[in-house]
Amino acid sequence: MSHSAEIIAVGTELLLGNIVNTNAKELSQALSGVGINVFWHTVVGDNPARLREALEIARKRADIILTTGGLGPTYDDLTKQTICETFGKPLVLREDVLETIRAYFARNVHLAMPENNRQQAEFPADCTIFDNPVGTAPGCAFEAGDVHVLMLPGPPFEMRTMLQNHAIPYLRSLSSEVIVSHDIMTFGLGESPMEELMREKISRMENPSLATYAKPSEVRLRATAKAADAEAAEAMLAPVVQAVTGYLGDIVYGVDVPSLEAACMAHLKAQGLTFATAESCTGGQVAARITALPGASNVYRGGVVSYWTSVKADVLGVPQDLLEKFGAVSEPCARSMAENARRITGADIGLSVTGVAGPDADERGNPVGLVYVGLASQSGTWCRKLDLGNRRRDRIQDLAANHAFDMLRRCLSFPDWHIKWMCLIVMYFFIPKAQCSR
Ligand code: ATP
Repeated sequence: MSHSAEIIAVGTELLLGNIVNTNAKELSQALSGVGINVFWHTVVGDNPARLREALEIARKRADIILTTGGLGPTYDDLTKQTICETFGKPLVLREDVLETIRAYFARNVHLAMPENNRQQAEFPADCTIFDNPVGTAPGCAFEAGDVHVLMLPGPPFEMRTMLQNHAIPYLRSLSSEVIVSHDIMTFGLGESPMEELMREKISRMENPSLATYAKPSEVRLRATAKAADAEAAEAMLAPVVQAVTGYLGDIVYGVDVPSLEAACMAHLKAQGLTFATAESCTGGQVAARITALPGASNVYRGGVVSYWTSVKADVLGVPQDLLEKFGAVSEPCARSMAENARRITGADIGLSVTGVAGPDADERGNPVGLVYVGLASQSGTWCRKLDLGNRRRDRIQDLAANHAFDMLRRCLSFPDWHIKWMCLIVMYFFIPKAQCSR
């Protein structure tokens, strides 16, 4: 039997917008992993009447109700009492839990337990108690009629620990299915063209299913299978992932890879190569994104943020006459920046970005959104010309950095003689208004 769950997050802070409901996100992800469909997220303040109303609605439409928050010792922590009233359960003091809470205070706070923490040892009769090794508020679960109610604490670290240690095993015992997903990551095709390309395939698929999720300039295709166990789900997913990646070809930059830079890092590590950067309009974003990944020092040598033309000339060594003739936002400059980044640092690959991030055109009249990405390696130098349009400055910078990483991962994914053709094909067919040349 498949289950449907509702998550009720309790806390006035959530309604006021003081905190983000990250617990609901984590709970939803965890529940999908054990084959439970989450159909509703509800947020309710620390108000017993409204919590009761939310519970009455939830018990009619879901057979699993998960609450977070309101298990603390203060007067406004009313989740347990309200749930007990709603489901007609008496609250019972558990002496064993009271002792555990006393011991927690003695061990961690070196104080006697305040009297109001006593209410944290009160539980609905006949429930399963979820202990809390990282806080004082234990959680619990009980069954009332056809509904299972699970109560977890609000602080995310406590919630997460209890979820893993207790709630997941409890839920697993209720569900006969697991859900497994794989993310096929693509760059270079917008959400609408991707939808168009995949619509028929997506509509024909049920289990495994396929769904698209768009990020700026990227589309993630999530293939999901439901099966009796993880092994069976993986066996159902493997041919789908293979077929979709084969069909989409080189716009796929990885499966279950979190980002373009992570894909680059994996390729660089596998091939024992390093790269360096020379950035202008991205202001060091490429460097920042790669160094945000642990282990970046194995693959990234360093970079120059050559914002001024004089820095391009004096620090990087871009020839003065080239800068005068073509300007800083030009293909020859991008090529020279990449070659010099490689030369100065001794890296295997040099990557450069120069362009106009806006809001105004540059002094030579180059329009906002005109960006050149250069890549220099042992086998030659390549350049992508991008027309990113008159967008917001930060969007142009993000996109330019994405293109730089995309160019790098293409260089690392394909044999040298393929790079030029891959760049050309992708530029002309998939990325509107962009060009690439060698
Ligand atoms: P405590 O024993 O700390 O009182 P509790 O179960 O009563 O635990 P709350 O008092 O409701 O939890 O929340 C404590 C803190 O946990 C909040 O101030 C907030 O920082 C965090 N928190 C609560 N609910 C959520 C949520 N849904 N998502 C993210 N953080 C949350």
